Amino acid sequence: MTDSSLVSEAEEHVRQHAEALTQPGTAECLGCYVARMLDTFGCDETLRWARRFRDLRSPRADGLERRLGAMGGFCDCEIFLNGIRPARHVLVRDIDTDELETPEELPDCAGVHSTSTRPCGNWERVRRR
Ligand SMILES: [Zn+2]
Ligand SMILES: [Zn+2]
Repeated sequence: MTDSSLVSEAEEHVRQHAEALTQPGTAECLGCYVARMLDTFGCDETLRWARRFRDLRSPRADGLERRLGAMGGFCDCEIFLNGIRPARHVLVRDIDTDELETPEELPDCAGVHSTSTRPCGNWERVRRR
């Protein structure tokens, strides 16, 4: 075996590992998936995770970016700034301030239909003032 084939084998391994890491769960929703990816990989100022979710789960949902844009989500993190936020039952009460806050770790996805691009019951729409 030559050195270069060793290298490409290692690269292939890393690639496959990254593929598996960035795979949406079978019933995982767009919101939980993108939140999970942002937690690990961050936002690159595009809708890359939302798009990846769409491509893998619901390739024909070509209105998704428009729909996200309509609620102010022009990149993955903006979906959570302007579009959706954890629903009330997901929040935890801060003992010091007595205010409801987003938990460190979001609960498991409540699940959606396998081709749905809607967030599950753990999310609600951000109401704009
Ligand atoms: Zn962003
Ligand atoms: Zn979910």
